[in-house]
Amino acid sequence: MEQAAAARVSEPVVSGAKVGKTFANGTVVALDNANFAIEKGSFVSLVGPSGCGKSTLLRLIAGLIKPTSGVLNLHGTQVTGPRQDVAMMFQRATLLEWRTAIENVLLPTEMQRRITSEDKDRAMELLKLVGLGDFAFSFPAQLSGGMQQRVALARLLQTGADVLLLDEPFGALDEFTRERLNIELLRIVSEIGATTIFVTHNIAEAIFLADQVYVMTPRPGRIASVIDVPIARPRELSVQLSPEFNHLVEEARVTLGAL
Ligand code: ADP
Repeated sequence: MEQAAAARVSEPVVSGAKVGKTFANGTVVALDNANFAIEKGSFVSLVGPSGCGKSTLLRLIAGLIKPTSGVLNLHGTQVTGPRQDVAMMFQRATLLEWRTAIENVLLPTEMQRRITSEDKDRAMELLKLVGLGDFAFSFPAQLSGGMQQRVALARLLQTGADVLLLDEPFGALDEFTRERLNIELLRIVSEIGATTIFVTHNIAEAIFLADQVYVMTPRPGRIASVIDVPIARPRELSVQLSPEFNHLVEEARVTLGAL
């Protein structure tokens, strides 16, 4: 009995076996033979140049597109379409301009059912969690780009999904804002225990954030190597100056350079 329980605990939240995806009648191999297993609560970065299949892998996990070959599992069941236990965030916040921040956060719930006062309380809590407690009734145009992405993050959390897929979520922001939001993202996902998959083309950012970095290479899109990041948490930005960190950056560069 105890052994069975232990086996369940270690079962990955997201896994793929020989996952492949082609487009244009098989002429474009966006993702080739991807094998992976992501543990509950862990943070995985996907890093690689444009066209190596990062977004394709996220969209497959989200159930937005179907694999051409192989099997993808989420919480132990096969992904066959969009589902409630996974949610995705993009580079642009795509907030509705005519709705306040809190009304935007409530949108995913509202699309499913009539919202309750508990939903509103939760939305307010999430806005506080992302540092926007004082801006709940502001409209997107009154918020900076970074603040708009914070609203999008709160909206993502409002879905209740515990697997978060982030496609360059802060990629359109300036470097200082991006670094600050990255640190806050780490705090938030560890606080709620979410499993996070984060796409970036920045090697240092990928390593700074992650427990594991999947280094991806194009033509065909492949997970070329998986780098474990054994750096203690919480992480300060200064960790990027350490020899250990730079060694990991070098390791990723070698994989990407050896195309
Ligand atoms: P990345 O996110 O790493 O930039 P993508 O996953 O977007 O890479 O794309 C991987 C490859 O698949 C690229 O060559 C891209 O042009 C191709 N691709 C992605 N989506 C489509 C599509 N809907 N139709 C045709 N080709 C696509």
